[in-house]
Amino acid sequence: MFITTTTEREFFQKELRLVDSKGNVKWIYAKAFPIAKINGIYRVAGIAQDITLRKKVEEEIKKALDKAIELNQLKSRFISMVSHEIRTPLTAIQTSAEILQLYRNKLTRSETETHFNNIFKSIDTMISMLNAITSLNKSDMQEIKLKYEEFDVYEKVNELVENFKLLDTKEIIFELKGKRFTAELDTQLFTQSVYNIISNAVKFSPHQSKISIKLNTNEKEFSIAVKDEGIGIPEYELKDIFNPFFRASNAVNYNGTGLGLAIVKRWTEALKGRIEIKSKLNKGTTVTITFPIRRSD
Ligand code: ADP
Repeated sequence: MFITTTTEREFFQKELRLVDSKGNVKWIYAKAFPIAKINGIYRVAGIAQDITLRKKVEEEIKKALDKAIELNQLKSRFISMVSHEIRTPLTAIQTSAEILQLYRNKLTRSETETHFNNIFKSIDTMISMLNAITSLNKSDMQEIKLKYEEFDVYEKVNELVENFKLLDTKEIIFELKGKRFTAELDTQLFTQSVYNIISNAVKFSPHQSKISIKLNTNEKEFSIAVKDEGIGIPEYELKDIFNPFFRASNAVNYNGTGLGLAIVKRWTEALKGRIEIKSKLNKGTTVTITFPIRRSD
């Protein structure tokens, strides 16, 4: 308790954060109130209380609550993704299997073939979804076993680009700034990461639009920037884009699991690299991944 004087009738209460020279934080609750007025001067009494422990507990509770909210959102996103991504291929399998069973003697060879293909394609979709979930879980548990190899980066990316060109009508332009170089990375994680971001650019942009892929390097690191002219991402959703199962609100009509970017982020970070995304709604998106050229450990 402390007592002081003032000419103002005032009431004061505040939580104060104090940091000592060693960086230790203490929280103090201070409260002051007028108790008497003598000759126009108020006598003010006050109390100060160390509330460091209470603050710590509050912070812990808030963290636990935030985590619970996040897990709950993750669960909802997971359920809505799984129910959609499993229901669609399962329905396709069921339809084709029923047609094959009911009309097996009436279908032409090519119709039969189409239904079998439909079944296999749907099974593939489900397997890749399950693989994505498994690899996310693995990277969570830091189970990624990296297999470093030296490879020509231009050649690896160009192989992927050529495959995309065969499959899609978009104009894909791949440019290397500077000379060709080799890097030491896990080839599979690297290739899969680049594949994921190119396939997003292809998926989320209109036919005949342009996709530009730029490979840049300096002596320490190199980056691959994939730029498209597609649907973009609403600005307020960009902060969540690397969360597992998160899909932007304008992506509902496109197939997907919301796992690709979360996985690429984990893989790039496992390879001591980073991923950045810039996007403007209805204008386009640029995803850039950067990796060190040499292994540092
Ligand atoms: P998926 O593609 O399976 O939905 P991703 O994890 O790869 O999942 O991407 C998460 C979300 O980020 C997508 O659903 C989409 O909303 C957004 N996104 C990613 N890449 C792009 C892009 N190139 N253009 C527009 N939106 C994108």
